[in-house]
Amino acid sequence: MSSTPIASKIIPKAARAHLDPTSIEYTSDKQRNAVAALVQEFTVTPQLLKDIKDNFIGGMQKGLKKDGETLAMIPSYVMGRLDGTEVGSYLALDVGGTNLRVVSVHLTGGGHINTRQTKYRIDESLKVGDAKALFDFMAVCVDSFLDEHEIVVRGDSQIELGFTFSFPVLQTSINRGTLISWTKGFNAHGLVGKDPVAFLQDAFNRRHVHVRVAALVNDTVGTLLAYAYNHPETVMGVILGTGCNGAYIEKIPKIEKWKGGAIVDEMIINMEFGAFDKERTILPLTMFDNKLDRKSVNPNKQILEKMIAGMYLGEITRNILLNLIDRRLLFEGNVSADLNQMWTFETAYMSTIEADNTPTLHVTRKILESTLSFSSTTLNDRQIVKTVVELVGKRAARLSAAAMAGILEHTGAWKQKAAIGIDGSLFEFYPSFDTDIMDGLEEVFGSEVRQNVSLGLAQDGSGVGAALCALLAAKHASKDASDN
Ligand code: ADP
Ligand code: MG
Repeated sequence: MSSTPIASKIIPKAARAHLDPTSIEYTSDKQRNAVAALVQEFTVTPQLLKDIKDNFIGGMQKGLKKDGETLAMIPSYVMGRLDGTEVGSYLALDVGGTNLRVVSVHLTGGGHINTRQTKYRIDESLKVGDAKALFDFMAVCVDSFLDEHEIVVRGDSQIELGFTFSFPVLQTSINRGTLISWTKGFNAHGLVGKDPVAFLQDAFNRRHVHVRVAALVNDTVGTLLAYAYNHPETVMGVILGTGCNGAYIEKIPKIEKWKGGAIVDEMIINMEFGAFDKERTILPLTMFDNKLDRKSVNPNKQILEKMIAGMYLGEITRNILLNLIDRRLLFEGNVSADLNQMWTFETAYMSTIEADNTPTLHVTRKILESTLSFSSTTLNDRQIVKTVVELVGKRAARLSAAAMAGILEHTGAWKQKAAIGIDGSLFEFYPSFDTDIMDGLEEVFGSEVRQNVSLGLAQDGSGVGAALCALLAAKHASKDASDN
């Protein structure tokens, strides 16, 4: 089992270079009409954004009342806050998307955090194989991380680890839970209905790795905690990466289904909002979304996620381009062998195409001709591709805004200073994603929201947050012991 670290690449974030579709010299009326129809289909009007937001709030309320609703609204068992005085060393393991990360987090007090991290790629075969093999791989990665960083565990002692496992898990305690379903292309058998912490702890024990899984955390909850460590006014943690989801701070009396005790009056809720609108009543689904859904490993699930998240945006774009090609409105009806394969149009290409501000769109040309092996393209082809990319990207940002607006309205948080910590490559790299979200929030709440609400990148928040969560768990455990 290989656990070779992969290097992280830093891409500077660029602005969107908007191309006005009315400025394109179309090759025919048919082509012009096809683009106009796409613009119509993919535009989330201010009214639709508000309607989605209202529907979303209804979904939140249902999920707070009982289990099994479309928005799972899962209590995280994370109670209490950190004040920056905490010290100690913890490990975090972040699994739930494209890469696996191991992070060592060293808190030195005074709000200072030192981290060291290594990323490992999760092989596609592990994602859909036997769950035990997947967890063995996780243990191998942690073991080699400890070696690599010369972290020695003496005698019988154990390092505490926060496990960020970003799938819908019904938590039963801070380090126990059961997997409800897989998402984001994972489908390893034998885990649904079981406890991922038990699987991970067993894998550590089998290999004699001296690590104790102290906390089970969703990446949204980790992101919220990590961002709050330096921004006390944080109300929400959001993921815009491989998948999309959010967590926010809720008053316990409003969580009607919560039967546990509470040492404080609020708790972080992992919403699992990527599942929104399973009923397909409000989201503006197109034939391109339906095609993607049907061919996914989890059809009829994660409907909102499939319109927003990094795993899917490139594939939606590819579906649209193929349709235009089949109608002979693009590339003279020719498709390249690469574009003909599923998942070949990466969401990262969209970021590059969005930022292309050259008059001949030569950056877009490079992607189409060098990367996707089209033998030649015309300026008209490239303009159509860029327009399609912008439509898919902007729709994703505006649907994210609708969800965030729902949370801000439900909690009333938008009326005061409020910070939203966001982790994930889509938010980090996609041009103008942040401005599109803010524009959407302004349509809902008015210009005042710009003074009150801020969005910020909580880089690798999910890893740091898991370590903070392990610390909170240890804090509670020692408090419980001293209370008894
Ligand atoms: P994870 O969700 O696994 O924690 P990331 O936050 O890095 O990982 O998100 C990975 C997703 O981000 C992938 O689906 C990928 O398509 C997308 N992505 C990676 N780079 C970019 C980019 N430059 N622009 C837009 N999306 C990107
Ligand atoms: Mg992540």
